[in-house]
Amino acid sequence: MTQRVFSGIQPSGDTHIGNYLGALRNWVSLQDSYDAVYCVVDLHAITGPYSPEELSASRLQTAKTLLAVGIDPDRSLLYYQSQVPQHAELSWLLGADTPMGPLNRMTQYKEKSDKSGEQLGLFSYPVLMAADILIHKVHAVPVGEDQTQHLELTRDIAVRFNGKYGETFPVPEQVTPGVGARVMSLQKTTSKMSKSEADPHGTILLLDDPYTIVKKLKRAVTDSGSEIVYDRQNKPGISNLIDMLSIFQAKPVEEVAADHADSQYGTFKLAVAEAVVEGLSPIRAKYQALEDEEVARLMTKGALDARMRAEATMTEVRSKMGLGV
Ligand code: ATP
Ligand code: MG
Repeated sequence: MTQRVFSGIQPSGDTHIGNYLGALRNWVSLQDSYDAVYCVVDLHAITGPYSPEELSASRLQTAKTLLAVGIDPDRSLLYYQSQVPQHAELSWLLGADTPMGPLNRMTQYKEKSDKSGEQLGLFSYPVLMAADILIHKVHAVPVGEDQTQHLELTRDIAVRFNGKYGETFPVPEQVTPGVGARVMSLQKTTSKMSKSEADPHGTILLLDDPYTIVKKLKRAVTDSGSEIVYDRQNKPGISNLIDMLSIFQAKPVEEVAADHADSQYGTFKLAVAEAVVEGLSPIRAKYQALEDEEVARLMTKGALDARMRAEATMTEVRSKMGLGV
């Protein structure tokens, strides 16, 4: 039987190069060998302050971006989470006996609640994420490194459910790239690049034009000293840029560092900018060619298919939990 893969992205702002390098490029490549299910997880994007108008625009923009990076709706199931109510239902059923201890230790909750308040939805976010994954009974989940803790909880929830109610969910494996798993902000090299980052100069957006990409990379915070060496601990700024170049040039980080050993920071940044512009330009072009109506149609169709699949799991889950008809 073909193995299945699932992942999600929040429509919480503009998709950036961290999302792409850490997760989306794996989403694309895994389509070749897996039965792939990808989701714009809008129910996760309402756990802090948000504007309904902006959310609505961001959902469509995120869906279009996924198609532009290479998610192929003929091969993969793609839909908006909120259009498949079984996600929320399974989240409740799984959350009913999820202990508070692990949730209390989630670092993302601590970071996000400091900024946007202590909402219940933000606290229970990892349980909804577990439901998103488990409802499709998947084997692999391509995510960035920041999701490791959440995925561990998902695995624990799957194991507990299977132990209590009988074998139901495969215990999914995390798929995280060797390079690019944690792209750092260009302005604050101790924080990961995020959609919700306040400083627009900290993120390179997938839809940024070449001029903006060059400007942001020229302004990128670099480390003390002047050597181009790969040392994520002591030279996080330069190492972050080496990571980007390594991916876009498909060369190991050591080779990239050696290629630029004699360069100044300024020259090196321009080389990175050139590679990023070249790497992102097909995505931008494809995005611009997509019609909103066509994307909306695809998303509606995806939701119908996803509901059927999700309902099959829910019928089994309800029955095992003593909630069947
Ligand atoms: P937000 O700030 O709203 O949480 P985000 O930028 O973290 O947004 P998400 O939608 O939460 O984006 O995550 C989508 C995917 O991108 C996840 O798999 C996540 O692990 C990955 N990801 C997010 N930021 C980075 C990053 N800086 N480097 C690598 N992967 C990342
Ligand atoms: Mg995030």
